[in-house]
Amino acid sequence: MKHRKLLMIPGPIEFEPQVLRAMSVQTPSHVASNFIEVFGNCLDMMKEVWLAPSGQPFIVSGSGTLAMDMAAANLIENGDNALVISTGYFGNRFKDILDRYGANTTILTANIGDNVALEAIEKELKNKDYKLLTFTHVDISTGVFVDPKSIVSLAKKYNILSVLDGVCSVAGEEIRQEDWGIDVVLTASQKAIGVPPGLALLVASKKAINVWKNRKTQVSNYYADWKNWLPIMKAYQERRPSYFGTPPVNLIVALEKSLKIILKEGIEKRVEKHQKLASAFRLAIEALGLTILPNNTAKAANTLTAIYYPKEIDGSKFSASMLNNDIIIAGGLHPEIKNNYFRVGHMGAISANDIIATLSAIERTLGKLGYIFKLGEGLKVFQNNFSE
Ligand code: PMP
Repeated sequence: MKHRKLLMIPGPIEFEPQVLRAMSVQTPSHVASNFIEVFGNCLDMMKEVWLAPSGQPFIVSGSGTLAMDMAAANLIENGDNALVISTGYFGNRFKDILDRYGANTTILTANIGDNVALEAIEKELKNKDYKLLTFTHVDISTGVFVDPKSIVSLAKKYNILSVLDGVCSVAGEEIRQEDWGIDVVLTASQKAIGVPPGLALLVASKKAINVWKNRKTQVSNYYADWKNWLPIMKAYQERRPSYFGTPPVNLIVALEKSLKIILKEGIEKRVEKHQKLASAFRLAIEALGLTILPNNTAKAANTLTAIYYPKEIDGSKFSASMLNNDIIIAGGLHPEIKNNYFRVGHMGAISANDIIATLSAIERTLGKLGYIFKLGEGLKVFQNNFSE
């Protein structure tokens, strides 16, 4: 298709045609037996993707922010201490949400492009009796990756709940929820899960569900209250009809298709594909003389890459020229450096060809805007370093 634009932002992403086609079925009743089966399958498959065989999955109509809201509303009671480990934009949002439910929230904020040091986290946990900590696996504003294992082992050592914001990571980065002992892993449909926006998805551990069951006060958010949703999820898991709020049936039909595609490939292979594409892309970007935002490739995400513009280049001209070359990229999001960088998403149905098209447009754009480099160098490095 001539002039078809390639959507290379970090969500919503390009979706598999089969997933989009699945959405266009005649809308079934939410209590029709075939839909009950679809919903039940989605819940079962989430446990496989999250690697949480005894976790409790939730599928609720809403965006990733609702999944964050749900975790906070159900697990926090007035006066609880909560710790947010922030690597960028969405750490602040989590603090706002936790505060809204009455938490005394402390936020530890990393320098731009960096992680929060484990020593700083441990010092904080030693200091105060926390109930819960949250952290962002992949921060979409910086492309910074956080290794969940070390943070979760600290949470376990101090016996506090851990909540992983995996909106930009689930099904793209390695997550072993149960092995690692993460209490809540949450995401949204429009990222590496590969379904158009509209689904808030989370899996809660037995411990998280027990903490919620033993609350002294009622959950102050009506829509997000697990009391309303847990019986519904249980019913669909047991293939029984039920109703609390009308589920977004067409999106859930699409979710079943996408989860099947992910599990057919295998979650480990899927994660490996993200790693291979991302590492070859980073090398290509560096070969062009550009700098990525994370200050160390070990801290760079595999689902998106944030890249500084060369000093001589104006960001708005860069994005406009990329669009002229039929590639849609995202601008900066971190408020302190918003105009200094751009972001490329590479998750879900992404292929090497999509990255090659993007790199080629980046090279043509840099050339047009007067940046001095060796044309073709990025493409060459990508091709030399990417193997299926
Ligand atoms: N957390 C992270 C890490 C995100 O990247 C996003 C969305 N980009 C959100 C939360 C919020 O998700 P949504 O926009 O679907 O509400």
